[in-house]
Amino acid sequence: MTTGQRIVLAQYPKGMPGHDDLKLEAAEYGAPGDGEVLLRTIYLSLDPYMRGRMSQAKSYAAITRIGDVITAETVSEVISSNDPGFSPGDIVLARSGWQSHAIMKGEALRRIDPALAPISTALGVLGMPGFTAYCGLLKHGRPKEGETVVVSAASGAVGQLVGQIAKIKGCRAVGIAGAADKCAMAVDEFGFDACVDYKDADFREKLAAACPDGIDVYFENVAGDVLKAVIPLFNFFARMPVCGTIAYYNAQGLPEGPDYLPAFMRAILVNRLSVRGFINYDEAEMMPDFHREMAGWIRSGKVKYREDFVDGLENAVDAFQGLLTGKNRGKLVIRVGDDPTA
Ligand code: NDP
Repeated sequence: MTTGQRIVLAQYPKGMPGHDDLKLEAAEYGAPGDGEVLLRTIYLSLDPYMRGRMSQAKSYAAITRIGDVITAETVSEVISSNDPGFSPGDIVLARSGWQSHAIMKGEALRRIDPALAPISTALGVLGMPGFTAYCGLLKHGRPKEGETVVVSAASGAVGQLVGQIAKIKGCRAVGIAGAADKCAMAVDEFGFDACVDYKDADFREKLAAACPDGIDVYFENVAGDVLKAVIPLFNFFARMPVCGTIAYYNAQGLPEGPDYLPAFMRAILVNRLSVRGFINYDEAEMMPDFHREMAGWIRSGKVKYREDFVDGLENAVDAFQGLLTGKNRGKLVIRVGDDPTA
C-alpha cells in the first residue's frame, strides 16, 4: 500500500473556492490491477476551467461530485505497472487529478519523452494551453498578415502564446493584462507590439492608442470590463474566438452597472463579427500540426514560454485562488514531487 494525499471537493464553492470547499486528505493507493499502473505525481496543472468543474451549472464537461478528486492533468512517473506498455520510471501525461499518486489504466496515458523538452511543458506550451492558443487563434481567429490581434490575460498560459503565434503570422500583437510587470513581460519577453494594463484608469484610451487600425481578431480569455473596452474598436468582419470568460468564473449573479448587451449586439451586427466559442478538444484534428509547429517554433526561438511553479500539493488551493485573481506569472504548475529528469 502506498500512502499519499489528495484534494477532494467537500462542497460546491460559492464565489472564490476555499479550503472548506477543497479539502486536503490522506489517501492510500493499492497495487495496480490488470492493465493499470501506479503513478507518482511530479507536476500538477492548475487551470481556470477547473472552477467550472466545481459547480453544478450546465457546462461542456461533467461536473465533479462531492468527494471526488479535483480533475487535472499531471505529469507523473510510473512506479509500478501491470500494463505491458509501461515500465517503472516512464514519464507520462495523465488525467489523474489533484493528488500525489493515482492508479490509472495504461490506455489513458500518453508517454512523454524527457529528451524533447522539460517534462513540465506537457502541461503548458506543448500541452493543452498551447494547443488552445494554436487552434483558437488559427482556426477561429483566422489572422491575416498586417492585421491587429488583441488577446486578454496576455501573460498567462494561453495568452502568451496567442500573441507570439500572431507575430509569427505577421500580425500586430496587442496584449491586455492586469499588472505592469505582466505587460512588460508580454512586450520584452514574448515580443508583443504593445500591452495595456486593464487596471489603469485610462485603460480604454491606452487600448485605443495601441490599436490605431482597430481590432481584427480579439482572442477573448476574460470578458467583463475588458470586453467592454474592446467593443468600440472592432473592425468590419473582425473575428472573436471566445476561449474563456474568467472574469465571471466566481460570479454569483449578474453584474451591476450599465447593460452592455445592446452595444455588443450592435457591434456584432454592424461589423459583421464572427463570435465563436470553442473548446480545445473539439479541434483534435489540428493536434499533429500543433505538435510539429510548436516544437519547431520553440527550437528556433520564435516561441518563448514562462512557467510559474508552486511547491507542494498542500499549496494547490491557495495557488488556485491566485490563478483566479491574477497572481500567477505564466503557466501555473504545482510541483508535487521530485522531477527525476531535471
Ligand atoms: P492564465 O495563465 O491566463 O491565468 C489566468 C489569468 O486570468 C490571471 O493571471 C489573470 O491575469 C486573469 N484574470 C483572472 N481574473 C480576472 C478577471 N476578473 N478579469 C480579467 N482577468 C482576470 O490562465 P490560462 O491561460 O490557463 O487561461 C486563460 C483563459 O483561457 C481562461 O479563461 C480559461 O478558462 C480559458 N481556457 C479555455 C480553453 C478552451 O478550450 N476554450 C482551454 C484553456 C483555457 P491578469 O492579471 O492579466 O488579469
